[in-house]
Amino acid sequence: MHELSVTQSILDIVLQHANQAHASKVTNIYLVIGDLSTIVDDSVQFYWDIISKDTIAVDAKLQFRRIHTQFECLDCYKQYQPDGDSILCPHCGSAHIKVLSGEEFYLEAIDIEK
Ligand SMILES: [Zn+2]
Repeated sequence: MHELSVTQSILDIVLQHANQAHASKVTNIYLVIGDLSTIVDDSVQFYWDIISKDTIAVDAKLQFRRIHTQFECLDCYKQYQPDGDSILCPHCGSAHIKVLSGEEFYLEAIDIEK
């Protein structure tokens, strides 16, 4: 359910930028989603189709770019990508880890037509 509020804030930002640029239409929206993010592409698209009606962004395509998860082990200081379901350090087995990337969710860019 939190995709709705997230999608709403994306739309607000998109329209704000589009207005500033005097766009007549928004054609593409580039979103970045980390693999650890709980945001589901399909849900964002679903809400987008509903809330973008009657705006200049109604025909925009949502382009999702995935960012892979990257952890750093705080015991042996090696960086790694988790393998399967295990988040443990593959080098020393530690669970004492820091997330370097994978939790992102943001609007990267938009394409407009004037
Ligand atoms: Zn380690």
